[in-house]
Amino acid sequence: MKLLDGKLLSEQLYTQWAEICKQEMGRNLRPPNLTAIMVDPSPASRLYVRNKERACAKVGVLSQILEFEATTTTDQLLQKIHELANEGQTDGLIVQLPVPDSIDSQAILAAIPPEMDVDGFSPLNQGRMLLGLSAHQPATPSGIMMLLKHYEIETRGKHAIVVGRSEIVGTPLAILLSRRGIDATVTLCHSRTADLQSHTRRADLLFIAAGQAELIGSEHIKRGAVVIDVGIHEAKPESGRKWTGDVQYDAVLPLVSAITPVPGGVGPMTVCALLRNTLRSWAMQMGLDSERF
Ligand code: NAD
Repeated sequence: MKLLDGKLLSEQLYTQWAEICKQEMGRNLRPPNLTAIMVDPSPASRLYVRNKERACAKVGVLSQILEFEATTTTDQLLQKIHELANEGQTDGLIVQLPVPDSIDSQAILAAIPPEMDVDGFSPLNQGRMLLGLSAHQPATPSGIMMLLKHYEIETRGKHAIVVGRSEIVGTPLAILLSRRGIDATVTLCHSRTADLQSHTRRADLLFIAAGQAELIGSEHIKRGAVVIDVGIHEAKPESGRKWTGDVQYDAVLPLVSAITPVPGGVGPMTVCALLRNTLRSWAMQMGLDSERF
């Protein structure tokens, strides 16, 4: 059984990227920069942004957090985004979701210039990705693809089941998996799917992004499957673990050929993909080869 260790892989990549950044900045370039906007953040949002800050520090990316109160309007946020875009000092700009309901999140995401949209959520980047054009890809699916590639998981001709159809995880993941060169045959399941188990049991590759703690048990798994667990939830105290995913990890372990741990699987790779997008954006601004990242 292979453990698909996102923490290990992300740390290896940070070391490589830090070295490239150090070399390039020795030539008098400004450092890469990632700015995160948070509006009335929950403790979870703060934690996610702190993890992103930590990763930035490892690579030598400057990070800046702009925090706004719950009463902030859509127009005020749009104004700030325009300012940052015009200053030309920001390589990556993210708005930590969710934002309060009073804010038009679609308008906010659409206002981020595509080259700065390192979360890959803007309509332009999502559209370009769909067309197979160069684009910042959404960080979670992109991080998952990095993990599959690193661990040499065979995807060609395999049956991939994605559970969850959100715009930022399940749907773009299904697109990337079916892309030429990856060549999986994809089924996208969601909350209205009838008899989920009948689908998941046919999966060579099973991706779970349903946001339901321990939804997937051994009865859902085909022997030898590769399981990628996107979910992260606080575990029940009696479990003896702090975190759990959308998968019953211990129950499925004897059946799988490879699996991501929670934590330490998809989470660190999401941050890693976000950083890669930021570094690519910086490299393009600086006239460097962005494919080095
Ligand atoms: P979401 O709530 O937007 O979407 C969940 C999707 O799952 C929906 O499309 C829904 O149809 C489907 N779903 C819900 N219950 C289902 C069921 N019983 N059977 C089949 N499908 C079902 O969530 P999201 O933003 O895509 O995130 C999913 C999970 O991944 C959450 O737990 C989130 O916290 C986690 N997440 C983790 C990372 C990370 O870096 N590890 C990143 C993004 C999201």
